[in-house]
Amino acid sequence: MIGIYGGTFNPIHYGHLRTATEVHELFALQELRFLPCSLPAHRENPSVTAEMRLEMVQIAINDYPQLQLDAREINRAGVSYMVDTLAELYTELTDVPIVLFMGADAFNGLSTWHRWQELFNYAHIVVMTRPQFVPDALPSFYNDKLVTMRDSLKSCLSGKIFFQKVRDLDISATNIRHAFIEYKNPSFLLPEPIIEYIRAHNLYSA
Ligand code: ATP
Repeated sequence: MIGIYGGTFNPIHYGHLRTATEVHELFALQELRFLPCSLPAHRENPSVTAEMRLEMVQIAINDYPQLQLDAREINRAGVSYMVDTLAELYTELTDVPIVLFMGADAFNGLSTWHRWQELFNYAHIVVMTRPQFVPDALPSFYNDKLVTMRDSLKSCLSGKIFFQKVRDLDISATNIRHAFIEYKNPSFLLPEPIIEYIRAHNLYSA
C-alpha cells in the first residue's frame, strides 16, 4: 500500500513527521508521500510561497527514505483538488491500494471537499487521532465503508475508512506561526533545520 499525507505544511512539524512515521510502520506501507497542497492565492501568506512549503518538507524528510515528497499539486498550475490528484495516482499506481491519511480535524471538514465522495473511488481513508479533535459521528454513507481491522485495507484498492490511534502530539502549524510572530522559542515542535530555514527567510514575522 502507498500512503498519501496531504496538507498545507505551513510549516511541516513533528505532529506530521511523528504520525507519518507511525502509520508507515503500522500499515507496512511501501512508501508514504507528503503531498503539499496548493492554496488559493487569497489564503496564502505572501511571505510563504508554495515552493517554500515544499522546500521545508523536503528538508524535513531528507534523511528518512521511507518518507517521500510528491510535489504534483504545487507543480500544477492553479488550485488542484484531492479527488483529481487521487484519480491521477490511481491510474499511475495500478494494483496498489492507496491510503489517504488525515487527522480528525481534517476528517471533520471532509464533506466540504470538492466531490469528496469520489475520493473513495480511488483510495481508502485513514483518520488519525489528534488532540483536541473528536471525529464526527459517521453518517450512513460510511455504512459499507467502515472497517475495524487494518488488514482489511489490503484486500481491495479503495473505498474503505479506518480510524487509527496515533501518538498524541498537540502541535499545530498555527501555534508554530504564532510562536515565531511572538518571538517565542519553537524548539522541539519542529526540526531545527526548518527553524533555521524560517529564520533565514524571515517567515512568520509580525
Ligand atoms: P494549521 O494549524 O495551519 O491548520 P496543521 O498543523 O493542522 O496546520 P496541516 O498541514 O494543515 O497542519 O495538516 C496536514 C494534515 O496533518 C491534516 O490531515 C492534519 O489533520 C494532520 N495533522 C497535523 N498535525 C497533526 C497532529 N499533531 N496529530 C495528528 N495529525 C496532525
